[in-house]
Amino acid sequence: MIYKTLIWGGRVSLCVLDTTALVNEAMLHHALTPVAAAALGRTITATAYLCSWLKEDESSLSVTIAGNGVGGKICVAGDGALHMRGFVEHPDADLPPRADGKLDVGGFTGAEGTLTVIRDDGEGIPFVGTSALVSGEIAEDFSAYFLTSEQRPTGIALGVRIGTDGTCVGAGGLFLQPLPGAGEDILDRIEEVMRGYGSISSIFAEEGAEGIFTRFGVPMPAGRGMSFHCHCSRERIESLILSLGREEAESILEDEGEISVYCHYCNTTYRFGREETRALFERGDKA
Ligand SMILES: [Zn+2]
Repeated sequence: MIYKTLIWGGRVSLCVLDTTALVNEAMLHHALTPVAAAALGRTITATAYLCSWLKEDESSLSVTIAGNGVGGKICVAGDGALHMRGFVEHPDADLPPRADGKLDVGGFTGAEGTLTVIRDDGEGIPFVGTSALVSGEIAEDFSAYFLTSEQRPTGIALGVRIGTDGTCVGAGGLFLQPLPGAGEDILDRIEEVMRGYGSISSIFAEEGAEGIFTRFGVPMPAGRGMSFHCHCSRERIESLILSLGREEAESILEDEGEISVYCHYCNTTYRFGREETRALFERGDKA
C-alpha cells in the first residue's frame, strides 16, 4: 500500500510505502537469496514511489541499476496503476551479512555504476535520467538521482527484512520531498529526521506503515494498492511468434525442436512445440 500526505504546514510531502506483500510476491516469482530479495525489494519500493507520480494508469516507468556488485543488474518496471515487476541479473548471488548484522545490499549492487530512469507518459519521446551510484544501498542512490536528475532534494529510507523462514516480514520506504518554495531550513530538518530511520524495515515488521505516521504525529491517509504484475501472457508471446514470420519460426523449430520465450521480469518460460506453432500460423492465416 502507498500513503501520501502533507506535513509541516503543507511544506513537505510525506509518502510511506508498505511493500511487504509486494516483495513476497516478487519472491514467489524469483528464487532470490535474502540479500537479492532486499536489493530487489528496495528498488521495487523506490520505483513504485516514482510510478505513483505518473499521471495516467497506462504511463510506464522503468529503473535499471547497473552496478559493479555480485548481483549484476537490477531492473524494475511499473505503470501508473502501480502494477510492478522486476528482476535481478544474479538472483542466487549471496554475501555474508555486514558487521552490523544487516544484509549487504551495497555489496550486492556495487557502489560504482549508474541508476537510469526511463519514464514514458505516452506523449512523444520518453524522459531518460541517469545518475551515478553512491553506495549501492539503493536509498542513497535514489536520493542522488532525485537531486541531480530531477533537481528535487529527497529524504529516502528503504528497508527489507527477511525472516528466519525465508519470507519477507517487513518492507517499505519513506520519502520526504519539500514542495517548491519550502525554504532551505526544511532541507536541514528533513536530513535530521531521516537519521532516525536507519532500520525502517523493523517499523514495517512490527508496526506497519501506521508506525511512521504516528512518529510524524499525523493521521494515516487512505492508501492505494500495489501489486506484482507482469504484462507477459501466452497471447502476447503468440503474437510475438507470429511477427517472426513462418520461415523464421520453422528455422527455430528445426534447430531447437521448440520455440521457447523467457520473460525475465516474472521468470516464466513460454514453450511452443512444432504442432502448436504450426496451428498458430494456420489460425493467423485465417484471421
Ligand atoms: Zn513476465
